Amino acid sequence: MGEIAGLVVGLAVLGWGGYATVGCVARKAVLASSYTLDESIGEAAASQFSGDACTNPKLIEAFERLAAPLRAQLPADAGVMRLTVLDDPTVNAFALPGGYLFVLTGLVADATSVEEVAGVMGHEMGHAALRHGVQRVARELGARIALSVALGGLDDSLAGLAGLATDVVGLAYDRAQEQESDDFGAALLAKAGIDPAGLGAFLGRMEAHPVSGWLSTHPEPHERRQRLLEALPPVSGTAPALPTLEELRQPCHAAP
Ligand SMILES: [Zn+2]
Repeated sequence: MGEIAGLVVGLAVLGWGGYATVGCVARKAVLASSYTLDESIGEAAASQFSGDACTNPKLIEAFERLAAPLRAQLPADAGVMRLTVLDDPTVNAFALPGGYLFVLTGLVADATSVEEVAGVMGHEMGHAALRHGVQRVARELGARIALSVALGGLDDSLAGLAGLATDVVGLAYDRAQEQESDDFGAALLAKAGIDPAGLGAFLGRMEAHPVSGWLSTHPEPHERRQRLLEALPPVSGTAPALPTLEELRQPCHAAP
């Protein structure tokens, strides 16, 4: 909690500068902090999903086979990527700070190819590796602190900090973060030998049939798809042995 407290104090001081500068200040404050901050926020937020985690070893093994080639191509400073499959029909996947990755069974049920699932995973790994989650927390925190200072008290903001860490799941990314993660994911997929067009295909389906899950935190699929398809990196890695969609759709829990 020491790192978070330091960040809070920094943002409280800077919060006087006004709401408009919060985004820029938040980014700088986060980039100056260590990755331990991401892990502590992510761990706290991830614990709320443990009850919905799938336990079928065959399902988990199939997902790990999909994640392995992506993990192998991550930059050295990207941190550990921990993958959890959640038993939830919502078409969604998300990354919490510190590399806590979640894929919901609804996303796999909706997907039309393994490459789509891999594409979404690569994109989410981008959000974690590029530390977008803590930037969102810092921006939200900075805004709340600026507001509470204006209203006459900082203590309430500090008391609400623990709650905010678990709110990180519902905070939307901004356009620049989405583009950064699209580029990161596409490059990662290409290096891993997986066609990055799968991410474009997923965005295309979200555009054609909007669903509330993934789109609520990942805006502007049309613009992003256009941009992504204009500069898709060529596949450079050797094609890995990927699981089939059927393997990714095995039951969440093994039969007793
Ligand atoms: Zn995103």
